[in-house]
Amino acid sequence: MIISMRPHATREEIDHVCERIREFGYRVHSIEGEERVVIGVVGMGDVTACLESLEATPGVANAVRISVPYKFVSREFRPQPSAIRLNGIEIGGDDFVMMAGPCSVESEKQIMETAEAVAEAGARVLRGGAFKPRTSPYDFQGMEEEGLKLLRKAKDATGLAIVTEVMSDRDVELVAEYADILQIGARNMQNFALLKTLGKCGRPILLKRGLSATVKELLMSAEYIVAHGNSDVMLCERGIRTFETVTRNTCDIGAVAALGEMTHLPVILDPSHAAGRRSQVPALARAGVAVGADGLIVEMHPNPEKAMSDGAQSLDPKQFAKMMADLKPYIALWKQARVVETVAAV
Ligand code: PEP
Ligand code: MN
Repeated sequence: MIISMRPHATREEIDHVCERIREFGYRVHSIEGEERVVIGVVGMGDVTACLESLEATPGVANAVRISVPYKFVSREFRPQPSAIRLNGIEIGGDDFVMMAGPCSVESEKQIMETAEAVAEAGARVLRGGAFKPRTSPYDFQGMEEEGLKLLRKAKDATGLAIVTEVMSDRDVELVAEYADILQIGARNMQNFALLKTLGKCGRPILLKRGLSATVKELLMSAEYIVAHGNSDVMLCERGIRTFETVTRNTCDIGAVAALGEMTHLPVILDPSHAAGRRSQVPALARAGVAVGADGLIVEMHPNPEKAMSDGAQSLDPKQFAKMMADLKPYIALWKQARVVETVAAV
């Protein structure tokens, strides 16, 4: 349920409403807003009786039931898009955010060269895996803490924010020390122990859609993180598994449009893992801008031929710079559309 208080409701009125909510057996999950306070309520009980009673309680403007199970990430709960601020950037706001870097952090030279190239081309966030989820146990598993230290070095040199994957709840604290955004990989989208730990990690989360997960399952996983205390979550469409084998995954561009209607959380598109081939990455990137994603996460390697993971889908620095230049007119249109949406929403 969401209880919207009248503008300038008093502290006593708000406290009394919270008391009534608890009397009905519900829990106050969040209290947001200053002039116009909105109270988020969760739990099990007699919804109709509670809503009726609260509608008649002093200071309450209205009380409504959220019909979807992904309550706090839904548009019903918050009609306006929510933006995540970090390192001087705003994800989900008026800027289209580009995140780029190698699949894996491999060496100091590799990550520093990449960081400089992506910053130069206009990216604001550096990606790079230090803990790698690999299908084969014999493949490169990542540099772990050594890799995190190199990412920090690259951040210090370029000012880029860092996004890197955390695979286990054991490593959340360590990765949060180095990263600005914690990435949850497709294979961990429903690792509920990990999702719960993220609620208290103090860092924004990039939650990738599972290989065979529905949009609603993605939203429920985001709800786990928010329900456990962290509302800074962005979602990432990275392609899903279908009968099609021409592409590595099927880029579900429709899901990005659907998410824009269903949730207030920012949505990022990963064209690299969707395509699986570098030649198709720029076209999918354009589609991401056109469909209204809030940003892209793209794999780039100084020498893709020698990459220890995902070389085939990694752009080289020149290709990345060209893609960024080619995206400019699309991003200009994206900005115009954003302004129109913002004005319409006010
Ligand atoms: C990655 O970002 O390199 C990665 C492993 O992505 P995903 O979890 O989407 O496969
Ligand atoms: Mn990868």
